[in-house]
Amino acid sequence: MNFHIVTFGCQMNANDSDWLARALIERGFTPTGPEDADVVILNTCSVREKPELKVYSELGRIKRFLDERPGAFAAVGGCVAQQIGAGFFGRFPFVRLVFGTDGTAHAPRAIERLLQERDLRISLIDFTAAYPERDPALDTAPAPGAQAFVTIMQGCDNYCAYCIVPYTRGRQKSRAAAAVLAECRRLVELGARQITLLGQNVNSYGLDKHGDGTTFAELLRGVAAIDGLDRLRFTTSHPKDIADEVIAAFGELPTLCPHLHLPLQSGSDRILKAMGRRYDMARYLSIVERLRAARPDIALGTDLIVGFPGETDADFEQTLDAMRTVRFESSFSFRYSDRPGTRAARLPVKVPEEVAADRLLRLQALQDGFTSEALAHMVGRDIAVLVEGPSKKSAPNIHGRAAATGGATSWRGHDPYNHVVNVVCAASGDRTGTTVRAHVREAKKHSLLATER
Ligand code: SF4
Repeated sequence: MNFHIVTFGCQMNANDSDWLARALIERGFTPTGPEDADVVILNTCSVREKPELKVYSELGRIKRFLDERPGAFAAVGGCVAQQIGAGFFGRFPFVRLVFGTDGTAHAPRAIERLLQERDLRISLIDFTAAYPERDPALDTAPAPGAQAFVTIMQGCDNYCAYCIVPYTRGRQKSRAAAAVLAECRRLVELGARQITLLGQNVNSYGLDKHGDGTTFAELLRGVAAIDGLDRLRFTTSHPKDIADEVIAAFGELPTLCPHLHLPLQSGSDRILKAMGRRYDMARYLSIVERLRAARPDIALGTDLIVGFPGETDADFEQTLDAMRTVRFESSFSFRYSDRPGTRAARLPVKVPEEVAADRLLRLQALQDGFTSEALAHMVGRDIAVLVEGPSKKSAPNIHGRAAATGGATSWRGHDPYNHVVNVVCAASGDRTGTTVRAHVREAKKHSLLATER
């Protein structure tokens, strides 16, 4: 039997899809294109605009493939599945499975059953009481590569005013530390050199009633101590919950990369309060100061929302001021849009679209300057690049000319600061999954060019 997965949204969804693929391969399924699939799985996201429409349009696209294969069907998972649930069955009869994030663990078994019982439909959208542990699905499936992601918790308790996640992923449920550590060890044994710990708010790991008493700082130390692991990262980090021990870890754990994504969202205390973020600029800046004291070269990234209901020009200017103060190396910035069911959607004073669009352009122009500055600062330095694969742009040329250029090849990866690096290596041979020492020659708009040392 064949399967095809289409993934929308965040890294947690990508990680869920990756697990689903491995679990299906373990059960004897083969990954294919949608035209040959017996089951097409859409792993959906409702964080961005018009998520349902995107899913409906994708279902329309894959229907023609499913129609041509007797018994083939679609499965819809993730946040939109959680919201619409069994509603998919009426509107799209070829959808025979819906599953929320807590139902992912049972999806492979449900798919097997649905292939046997063609009149059946299954809905797995109930939230579970504890973290729904999944079987490791690593025995015969392909190794995940040099970088791996490990989910340490599910859901979120914060109810930020604009965010749908607590409704689609449920309340926070921490995973047992022993299970996290076992998965990390296993991945390192299989060849992973970098692990990224994932959660909606990793800093509150262990603080919910499902925690086993292990704090996030303790978990970090446990993972960092695994033999053979070169790099450790984590995301996402809520500023209100970051502990002093986690800040200190950046100065103490050699494997913990000097990069942190710390969502600010707004530089205005008034808007932060309306967003329900439960920190103010003074607290945020004190975290930045302590992080830089612990690890002076730490690279900081952030998320920013413009045009939150009630945001004035003065509020927006404070966001720009905050960016100038912190000088983020990177940011993901978004124009606010209502998510039905959230508190912010009910706020009466909306920012006109053209005003929000203009603010977003100004913010992104400012960010481009800081990003360029940070990349230019790297030129002339020696760095370690964990290679993820061939360089996208230059690979066909360079690889095609490999013989004529004495076997030089170009590879793409990241340095410890999370910069994208394209590195030209003198010798041929696959460098994927290895760490290459490289000298930075040039800064591009969003990446670095380097040559192997
Ligand atoms: S911390 Fe806030 S923004 Fe992040 S997932 Fe939770 S509710 Fe959403």
